[in-house]
Amino acid sequence: MSQDSFSKENDSHSSTGKDKFATRLIHFGAEVDKTTGASSVPIYQASTFHHFSLSEPPEYDYTRSGNPTRQALEDYIAKLEGGVRGFAFSSGMAAISTAFLLLSAGDHLICTEDVYGGTYRFLTVIASRLNIETTFVDMTDLDAVMAARKANTKAVYMETPSNPTLKITDVAAVTEWAKKHELLTFLDNTFMTPYHQRPLEQGVDVVLHSATKFLGGHSDVLAGLAVVANESLGRRLKMLQNSLGSVLGIQDSWLLMRGMKTLQARMEHSEKSAQKLAEWLTTRPEVERVYYPGLADHPGRDIHERQSRGYGAVVSFDTGSGEAARRVLDKVRIPLVAVSLGAVESILSYPAIMSHASMPKEVRYARGIGDGLLRFSVGLEDIDDLIADLEQALSR
Ligand SMILES: *Cc1c(COP(=O)(O)O)cnc(C)c1O
Repeated sequence: MSQDSFSKENDSHSSTGKDKFATRLIHFGAEVDKTTGASSVPIYQASTFHHFSLSEPPEYDYTRSGNPTRQALEDYIAKLEGGVRGFAFSSGMAAISTAFLLLSAGDHLICTEDVYGGTYRFLTVIASRLNIETTFVDMTDLDAVMAARKANTKAVYMETPSNPTLKITDVAAVTEWAKKHELLTFLDNTFMTPYHQRPLEQGVDVVLHSATKFLGGHSDVLAGLAVVANESLGRRLKMLQNSLGSVLGIQDSWLLMRGMKTLQARMEHSEKSAQKLAEWLTTRPEVERVYYPGLADHPGRDIHERQSRGYGAVVSFDTGSGEAARRVLDKVRIPLVAVSLGAVESILSYPAIMSHASMPKEVRYARGIGDGLLRFSVGLEDIDDLIADLEQALSR
């Protein structure tokens, strides 16, 4: 079933294509139950569906293949990303690894070297075993991307801004080149979300999300989403999702939709705070470097502004040494000290021992991920409290 099944252009409660993003977030087509008028999508907690007539099989017959609650979520994300069809998976990695199986043995892929660690592990440990080969390149350098193409190259994988140093890839330039060579393009849009960045509009074929982060927004659901640009990719990804069975559960589908409704309100608040925090950090003598696309001197800021409507809520900064970073982590009072990001509560991560622990030290250093680097995902707390807390944690 396509997203059209839930687009009720003539219904009084649904939004139209002309409505702005905030309105579409709330009125996404399935927000009012057609049968009862209930104000949220019903949780169809069922694994199978009765055949009332054998000659007319039901629209849904088995929940791995389709479930109305999950379908509402899949149509919702497709609508927000401006895609043809959406898919919900049990995690971001389930979405990403399933999407990679659009490729076949013998294919070659060009991937950003700043890719999320789990994606790197999948490509280097599992895809390589299936004879899907990957070249990692600096995606901020279009020449490097082009130079990596081989006779069997079939796809390009992007992540922008990248984690944790927020490097910017020129999405339109990469996709324009990729299309010339009939390469499939993927983009992990976790950091920006469709509120800020809609890669399908820049020519990307498959958009991926760890919905565990900003889309869910509350550090209480693990989920992944994918949206494709055309029906043929939609049919192929549907077949993979159904065959691999890595679908999102029904209750989590509902929880995710609940979180997504407040995406814009959360992002706006967190982003305003992130900008303030980043600017404050640049004034601190204890901080050697601040990474945030909203800072005037951020490399790639012009490109970012062409393809995104904002800068997001993740700020990374270098305290200069492992000792200094550990002191901050010990002394902060407000943020969670944890992996993950994109939640109502602020989360302070230490890439060197968390997300990037498995990366060889030389490689990690070469990517700018030193022992003093911290990543701050700004939540919904009062920014003055967050800054005061960080100020006392930074002080020697
Ligand atoms: C967290 C994350 C993932 C993986 O998602 P899970 O939901 O943890 O499986 C992928 N990409 C990015 C950018 C992430 O931050």
